Amino acid sequence: MSDLVIVNIGTLVTGDIDSPVTDADSIIITDGEITTFGSGLDGDGPRIDAAGATVIPGLCDNHVHPVLGDYTPRQRTTDFIDSYLHGGVTTMMSAGEPHTPGRPTDPAGVKALAILAHKSFANARPSGVKVHAGAVLLEPGLTEADFDEMAAAGVRLVAEIGISGVKDPETAAQMTRWAQHREMRVMVHTGGASIPGSSAIDAGFVIAVQPDVAGHVNGGPTALPLSDVERILDETSARVEIVHNGNVKAAGQVAALALRRGELDRVVIGTDSPAGSGVQPLGMLRVMSWVASLGGVGPEWAVAMATGNVAALHGLEEGVLAVGMPADLCVVDAPLGSQAHDAMGALAIGDTLAVATAVIDGVPRFTKSRNTPPPLRAISINA
Ligand SMILES: [Zn+2]
Repeated sequence: MSDLVIVNIGTLVTGDIDSPVTDADSIIITDGEITTFGSGLDGDGPRIDAAGATVIPGLCDNHVHPVLGDYTPRQRTTDFIDSYLHGGVTTMMSAGEPHTPGRPTDPAGVKALAILAHKSFANARPSGVKVHAGAVLLEPGLTEADFDEMAAAGVRLVAEIGISGVKDPETAAQMTRWAQHREMRVMVHTGGASIPGSSAIDAGFVIAVQPDVAGHVNGGPTALPLSDVERILDETSARVEIVHNGNVKAAGQVAALALRRGELDRVVIGTDSPAGSGVQPLGMLRVMSWVASLGGVGPEWAVAMATGNVAALHGLEEGVLAVGMPADLCVVDAPLGSQAHDAMGALAIGDTLAVATAVIDGVPRFTKSRNTPPPLRAISINA
């Protein structure tokens, strides 16, 4: 018997930037994986009747700042990860744990913190959300042997460069090479200073370092000039990231730039939260609507920027709906009262989607979102 059957899907968005929609209307999930896509499939046991609503992959937030467990000292808020789940987020990528109280700034300390955060979240997933944490904050004095040790312990991320002690491009580039040779993904903070005393980071810095991601090019909090974003796209192979905790107008401009250049595969979406601007449970849904409504990007591609593109960057199995992949997905719809008639139409006009449920590893995690508006359709979840 299957874990879960989803029937009467109106639109099935895959998260694959090259092939973002399929014509299947039903999904069978077994042992936490998608086993069949089809038309008119059904089965006994747990069942979701989507009533013509839309299924998308679970959202993968490319930019979070967790600490340990489901608590953020930055905003003194508990259960924020559970709240993001109610906004459709099933995977989170840490961009560093700088909010850790009394965080160490010596090499032994930052190394230990990265290993601890990685293992803590690997062992305990808040509300089932897959939090990939343990992003090492680069500090002067880290050696290549330290990167060996971290990689052996499972650390796969370097925190956004620019928010910790390594400020010069030469040291940043050296440590980036050490990290990338060990399959670690490296992000550079771009734009204005987010922490007093740090300086603005422009395209020249990103080009010198050659990271995997130019973080929040629409601002965190102030945006790069669009000409700098073009230089990054021209002179590096990095992805460019659009975040909620940034400049809304620039978010649309960066999306439109990527569309004009035929490089939608290089855009990833995150929230950059929790941060000074707060906890943002619906941040991913909102950036998807900015990219579609202000950037003119087709809504199915906006979904891919928030799912499959993030997965491709980090080598995750999640993020794309296909046979054999983990069943991490959301049933979404136009929000009740929207001028649009379905989820993709709602994104195109800038509305925030209604999330009816988020499924992780084949298990629906709630039957009514406490954070999004209610869906237009009467979706039934019997699981
Ligand atoms: Zn930043």
